[in-house]
Amino acid sequence: MAQHFLLSAKARTLSLRTVFRMTEEQAYSLFCEMRWPENDGAGICPRCGCTEAYHISTRRKFKCVACHHQFSVTSGTIFASRKMSFCDLLAAIAIFVNGAKGISSLQLSRDLDCQYKTAFVLTHKLREAMAREDIGRQLSGDVELDGAYFGGYVKPANEKENRRDRRLAVNQNGKRQVVVVGRERGGESITVVAKTEAHGGALVTASIHHMSIVHADEASHWDDLHGRFATRRINHSVVYSDGVACTNQAESFFSRLRRMEIGTHHHVAGPYLASYAAEASWREDNRRVDNGSQAMELTAASMEAPVSRSWKGYWQRAEH
Ligand SMILES: [Zn+2]
Repeated sequence: MAQHFLLSAKARTLSLRTVFRMTEEQAYSLFCEMRWPENDGAGICPRCGCTEAYHISTRRKFKCVACHHQFSVTSGTIFASRKMSFCDLLAAIAIFVNGAKGISSLQLSRDLDCQYKTAFVLTHKLREAMAREDIGRQLSGDVELDGAYFGGYVKPANEKENRRDRRLAVNQNGKRQVVVVGRERGGESITVVAKTEAHGGALVTASIHHMSIVHADEASHWDDLHGRFATRRINHSVVYSDGVACTNQAESFFSRLRRMEIGTHHHVAGPYLASYAAEASWREDNRRVDNGSQAMELTAASMEAPVSRSWKGYWQRAEH
């Protein structure tokens, strides 16, 4: 079997600089290799699965030998009906992964000299592709579990009191949501958005292998973890970490999500919180991977992602 494209030297060297030197034809070929690695980049009919297709290179279309269906490299993917050139699309992905605390749609539209609306939808599609990588994921080994609230009222300063105060109904305005993360040490993460940390925690723990060691803080709703997992608890109000139990990885995730909120998007709560959380966890999980490989991984994930139900024709719909 041919070496997976993502493991090739070509994929590893796809930095932003390389992308900007590519011709449109080279960028197009790259998308074909990403879409159909098992067929060496030659089109596979999305309708009947036939691996032979005529390549109408002038129009960058394929026509299935068996059923005559016409398709393009992005048909049926999250990039279907794209307006950008393949070069610009690759550049957008490279710029997107380079932003350690995210990148705003406005910044991307300036960098690429494209419409704000185009950049807005594209960045959300990329987050959707990132989030898809979490589907069906199971965590094992040492798993850190923690939650943090976004939106609504948050009392500033005084960490210890703050942790209690935020749980009082009087300090909530109904817009508050909690992000709960489960992070494997040295591995991958799962994030969920819920109304309460207990509810979000239940969703995350459903994806943790029963032989795992789960690390969580002193909050009482984590007490029932002890019946299901080997559990280590830390008390934030006494020490940050006692050396055995620790949630530093989870803290690191929340620190990145806060930096995205404060430094880039200014407001990440509301309907998009789940997608920003998925983006932050993808960035955390891939933080030691070089940018070129990250760009290629995200391109490949996008080519595996189906047409977006949320973002397809977003600006064409009446309510916008
Ligand atoms: Zn066909």
